[in-house]
Amino acid sequence: MEILVVNQTEVPTLLPMNECMTAMEVALKSLTRGAATNPLRQILWLPEKVGALGMMPAYSSDLGAMGLKVIGVFPGNQGTEYDSHQGAVLLFETKHGQLQAMIDATEITAIRTAAVSGVATRLLARADAKDLAVLGSGVQARTHLEAMLLVRPIERVRVWSRTPDHARSFAERESERHSREIETMTSAEGAVEGADVICTTTAASEPILQGDWLSSGAHINAVGSSVPSARELDTAAVVRSRLFVDRKESTLNEAGDYLFPKNEGVIDENHIIAEIGELLLDRHPGRESDEEITLFKSLGLAVEDLASASWIYERAREKGLGKMIELGGDRH
Ligand code: NDP
Repeated sequence: MEILVVNQTEVPTLLPMNECMTAMEVALKSLTRGAATNPLRQILWLPEKVGALGMMPAYSSDLGAMGLKVIGVFPGNQGTEYDSHQGAVLLFETKHGQLQAMIDATEITAIRTAAVSGVATRLLARADAKDLAVLGSGVQARTHLEAMLLVRPIERVRVWSRTPDHARSFAERESERHSREIETMTSAEGAVEGADVICTTTAASEPILQGDWLSSGAHINAVGSSVPSARELDTAAVVRSRLFVDRKESTLNEAGDYLFPKNEGVIDENHIIAEIGELLLDRHPGRESDEEITLFKSLGLAVEDLASASWIYERAREKGLGKMIELGGDRH
């Protein structure tokens, strides 16, 4: 049997950010409706936790597909020629269990994570949100900037990063890409002061965003931490916010941003208001006033990778992109 291989340079052409947001809405709705299966991710840590192999399987009856993202996560790659997230999404059909495609996971992860934050921001940020703060200057910072510009009438962009040079080069490169000014800030506090939308996209394990810096009416996308032992937001930031999540079960098990305040005894499960899928299905209201602070905690779900891979596969077949290779699976 032949499988389709789609490489990193082809993925953005086949999965533009606005189209990915549509695919993510479908995926999150199907998960909330119970039409998708998404076990908790399995993480195989290397000694000293220098890196990990993440395995994320999912099945969707809506897509008629099952799949697995397998990805090496090596935060130490930052600043080298290697991305910190590398691997593949394997897409299978569900009639015979045939492997159909192997698609670069670096770019899928970069795009789909920001697309989900885009969907959450469209649902939760104030309609007139125009002041954006990005904390971090890596891959997720880049794609989050792109997604935020698509969903809100952003007029001001500030970026802060731990390494000031990285913030400066991010601002230079992205100002050119988006033909707009991006201000570099020397402190996270300075970046978020008065901001309407804040994206935290760092590999920090200690808080980089404090609750007493937040302005009334702000919306936060908390993206960078996806394990119980790391968080980007301090307890006050979570307590002050109305919390929405990609998936409750994952939040209860994997989200340091939620688990630290929960273990301190200051919040419990009732602090989680709803999944984004519930808002998309109109089962739950989102923002209820211009003053409240909303927080979307993103963990990243296998069903998002599956929906992205399925979207890419369909478009690649239509456009003749990717490369077919003979693999196996025939009965001899
Ligand atoms: P990159 O390696 O491209 O960028 C890492 C960023 O984190 C840099 O801006 C770096 O700042 C910053 N950083 C690293 N360590 C610290 C620290 N101790 N304190 C403050 N900032 C720090 O990574 P990505 O953009 O690909 O990923 C960013 C984070 O998002 C990771 O933790 C990753 O696991 C997570 N992630 C979450 C996903 C989800 O679905 N929720 C999906 C994909 C990634 P500087 O360069 O200035 O030092």
